[in-house]
Amino acid sequence: MSLQSEEYVTDRLIYLDHAATTPVDPVVLEAMIPYFTTHFGNPSSIYRIGRAALHALDEARDQIASILGASPREIIFTGSGSESDNLAIRGVALAQRQAGRGSHIITSAIEHHAVLHTVEHLQAFGFEATILPVDPKGLVQPEYLRAALRPDTVLVSIMYANNEIGTIQPIAELGAICRERGIPFHTDAVQAPGALPLDVRALNVDLMTIAAHKFYGPKGVGALYVRRGTPLLPQITGGGQERRRRAGTENVPGIVGMATALRLAEERRAHDSAHCARLRDRLVAGILERVPGSRLNGHPTQRLPNNASLSFEGVEGESILLLLDQHGIAASSGSACTSGSLEPSHVLIALARASGTERAPEIAAALPGAVRFTFGRENTDADVDAVLEMLPGIVAQLREMTVTSQGGV
Ligand SMILES: *Cc1c(COP(=O)(O)O)cnc(C)c1O
Repeated sequence: MSLQSEEYVTDRLIYLDHAATTPVDPVVLEAMIPYFTTHFGNPSSIYRIGRAALHALDEARDQIASILGASPREIIFTGSGSESDNLAIRGVALAQRQAGRGSHIITSAIEHHAVLHTVEHLQAFGFEATILPVDPKGLVQPEYLRAALRPDTVLVSIMYANNEIGTIQPIAELGAICRERGIPFHTDAVQAPGALPLDVRALNVDLMTIAAHKFYGPKGVGALYVRRGTPLLPQITGGGQERRRRAGTENVPGIVGMATALRLAEERRAHDSAHCARLRDRLVAGILERVPGSRLNGHPTQRLPNNASLSFEGVEGESILLLLDQHGIAASSGSACTSGSLEPSHVLIALARASGTERAPEIAAALPGAVRFTFGRENTDADVDAVLEMLPGIVAQLREMTVTSQGGV
């Protein structure tokens, strides 16, 4: 099925993929613009426009630190959520091994690939890893973590909220288990800003990753919180930026944009969450009622307020997405990074495993049918209506095609 423009039924865009990325808020863009033009200086330069850039950088760092309940020195600016995940995992793992503390890492089966592939890469260099399973709702149970800890465990990385199914992990509890034993605990919190509390002390985390473009900030900028005293080796070497923890001239406009976006996300958190949850709940109820063989993936309540991940028995998610796209509806089959590959998502496979032998085949059969709708602050009831209007027909049409092709002539 091609995506040529003449096949589109509408020019309207109904964007329901905020877990993949978000538009830059106009207030954020406005805050960024001077740092591309008049205040273009390098923050490492000593003359006036350099100092102005450094001042903006300091202010952004203070703002972000205060929202996370951290000290400004504990914030490292990076080039993305992926880079922050890489720095946290590789940076701590290598520092720990260098200090002779061991080389065992614990993570979960449903992490973003920026975490999983980094852990895999370290395994090729002599690290050992335990990949924790999840329960049928996508939760990492604290006892799974307790059972996996070893004397040579040097790092635990568990995401705050899952980008595909929205399940929110008991981070404070998992963090407390690690803290008790002095094991550094990283959480990939990329999906959390604007939806969940971000106080690093309440969460018991030593490292936390965020990425601006997931909360109405610009793409290509992230941050890593690193608690004072956490061992960390830099992964990008060169200049002395970021207290020698991440070399490279800082992305000043991006960082200013990220700080502004995080402030807005925090200010609007209660309102945006309630708004998204209301639309999401209407969508889920409407789909479950109107589309036979549909099912909600993940946790019924302990999930991101904007996330609806649904499976449709016997229908491929990709086919649904292509037909939705023709009606101007942008959704996803899971993580944007793997869509297009048609491989079942590692997150849904982990859920299927968790549900045990009796239900695994049934769930596995429905695996390709997962479609993720993730709401944002600009969505309206009309967007929900549009999906509820189109989706039952699309699923029915695809099922008919499958029956016809399987039945032969
Ligand atoms: C998007 C995402 C990332 C990657 O962030 P980038 O800035 O796109 O590199 C990592 N983890 C999670 C949970 C994400 O949703």
